[in-house]
Amino acid sequence: MTALEKWWILGLVGCCVACSGAKEETKAQPANPYYSHTDTLPLRLSDKVWKSVLSGGVYDIARQKSTEQPFNNKYYKHTAKGTYCCAACGHKLFKSTSKFASSSGWPSFFEPAAPNRLLYKRDYTQQMERVEVLCGRCTAHLGHLFDDGPPPTFQRYCINSLVLDFVAQ
Ligand code: FE
Repeated sequence: MTALEKWWILGLVGCCVACSGAKEETKAQPANPYYSHTDTLPLRLSDKVWKSVLSGGVYDIARQKSTEQPFNNKYYKHTAKGTYCCAACGHKLFKSTSKFASSSGWPSFFEPAAPNRLLYKRDYTQQMERVEVLCGRCTAHLGHLFDDGPPPTFQRYCINSLVLDFVAQ
């Protein structure tokens, strides 16, 4: 084998290794076996399991309580008819008929799809007293509840787009 042939083979092997690495990096997140639009039983999983079944953005908000950027997010100005579900577990959370145009920068609703779809928790972080809104099935952090919404409830459920999945009617 000539030196030129050796370099050609080494180059080919190197390319294959690099290509397989790139494929690994862009591999889709594994399917979430806990996701369901019909199962309403409480879902309690370890942080390790959540991390393995959620995309990074959803995990950061749902399990680490981070907040996405206002205005430039998926559902802030979304007006289609349908149902907004929890992106972590599929639980049906809000109907499009309760969505309203707020100036907050995040999707806003005046009521949940049904009274038992959400959980509420006092939140004293960031030097404020707020009401945290969580998914009633999987306890994912969704956003916060304020009392400055429109009629008929005068409430504003301020929710991160990234933890919502939209199912068209
Ligand atoms: Fe959920």
